[in-house]
Amino acid sequence: MSTGTKYIFVTGGVTSSLGKGIISSSLAKLLQARGYSVTIQKLDPYINVDPGTMNPYEHGECYVTDDGAETDLDLGHYERFLSVPTSQANNVTTGRIYQSVIEKERRGDYLGKTVQVIPHITDEIKSRIRLLGKTGKYQIVITEIGGTVGDIESHPYVEAVRQMKWEMGKDCLVIHLTLIPFLSTTGELKTKPTQHSVKTLLEYGVQPDILVCRTEHKLNKDIRNKVALFCNVESDSVIEALDASTIYEVPILMEKEKLDVVVLNKLHLPIPENIHLEDWKEFLLKIKNPKFEVQIGLIGKYVELKDSYKSISESLIHAGAVNNCRVNVQWIHSEWINEENVAEKMAGLSGIIVAPGFGKRGIEGKITAIRYARENEVPFLGICLGMQCAVIEFARNVMGKTDAHSTEINPSTSNPVIDLLEAQKQVTHKGGTMRLGAYPCRLNEDSKVYSVYKQKEISERHRHRYEFNNEYLGDFEKAGLVASGINPEGGLVEIVELKDHPFFIGVQFHPEYKSTVSRPHPLFVGFVGAAVEIGSLKKVHSH
Ligand code: GLN
Repeated sequence: MSTGTKYIFVTGGVTSSLGKGIISSSLAKLLQARGYSVTIQKLDPYINVDPGTMNPYEHGECYVTDDGAETDLDLGHYERFLSVPTSQANNVTTGRIYQSVIEKERRGDYLGKTVQVIPHITDEIKSRIRLLGKTGKYQIVITEIGGTVGDIESHPYVEAVRQMKWEMGKDCLVIHLTLIPFLSTTGELKTKPTQHSVKTLLEYGVQPDILVCRTEHKLNKDIRNKVALFCNVESDSVIEALDASTIYEVPILMEKEKLDVVVLNKLHLPIPENIHLEDWKEFLLKIKNPKFEVQIGLIGKYVELKDSYKSISESLIHAGAVNNCRVNVQWIHSEWINEENVAEKMAGLSGIIVAPGFGKRGIEGKITAIRYARENEVPFLGICLGMQCAVIEFARNVMGKTDAHSTEINPSTSNPVIDLLEAQKQVTHKGGTMRLGAYPCRLNEDSKVYSVYKQKEISERHRHRYEFNNEYLGDFEKAGLVASGINPEGGLVEIVELKDHPFFIGVQFHPEYKSTVSRPHPLFVGFVGAAVEIGSLKKVHSH
């Protein structure tokens, strides 16, 4: 049965938000740096089929893969760390597991049997875990189990892990991520919550092989030995995970703790001597020692919850490193921007990003901010809804179509410059019915975007229903808003830009999903570069 693939499970204990995604990504990075092909999968215990229908307040950003899966934002970390694309198979939810079991039951696949959590649900979980191994592309598959051990809803997943460990023996190992809290009153690190959390795992029949312990203070030998003794793990398998100043530091911390070496030993895999982290370390050095600093305004409607724009803020960090620059993001709520206060709110910004989004709330504030960026030559990047707002702003304030709008917001506008395609008008379901995933785009060679990408054909990921209305294309181009990127198949406008502006680009797709540490996205690199330039020009002017 073994395909030669090794499986690593990462579970979480004590509390949520300990950073299983970052630990999984960091371990994967180290294994990749030693020459192994690795992928990471996330199993989410909620009933939604995917997070696509969830409000960002509930779930943070919805990350989109090339194959159009709407997924958990941890997949964004996986791609940013590894630069290897993920797919639908990398994120599975309880909703999806039950959906396929129920479909099989209706088809009669279970031959009259009673369909039960064990074995049918657990079999389905196990087959989803093995799916990535079966592609033959990966030597190691890391599976992160969402939630905290002990939650009712993660129980079937932990049971699937128990069964796989039993079936696969040394081809499989479990890493448990826990917390060692520090009690400031007594000045002590406490191991009891970790002991209890491991006991809970043991009740489910799973003995963790490695404990990664989040902590604010270093773990001394005594603490490590104590945890090891109480939790039946070797003391070199008690790994300290100190709080880090940036998530990109974590692979280096894990390397110092020899997490990769312990893992490879336990999986009986050879440990290549060289570990290629040179580029990673150089990137870290750059983000820690920037030469410049810029202020970028990120205008959206979920700014209270920064996870809603995770990929955008990470893309800005990657682009900052290329430009030797620290990017300070000012989160500005679009609902609070109006014509009276826009100049004050945008003061001091060297660049403005208008974020993706859905629905009416805050839309006029976004349009007002875009007008400011256009008229004051502030570098602007509009993403998805941000691009649509740029089109609306231009139609209203340059072309004089004062009621121009998107039919998403005003279905009865007489100038629907952003509209649904005929095919989309028939859609009544919400889940998975947008234009999703990678689409090709051809760039106009005489354009800003071409000078940024330096290639003619690009592929970018989408997540939207509404589109630029091509009936207005001629009018826009005459007035100076150029369609510089077109989908070669259907002729849809994917990019608009202004000719006489230092940097004014709106993209219908989401470039932020494709920026990684080793491949920073050209649009963000260009945008931050333009902001650095404008920022320094402004400084010169003010002297
Ligand atoms: N609401 C817009 C649409 O559906 C934009 C979506 C987005 O910004 N992701 O077309």
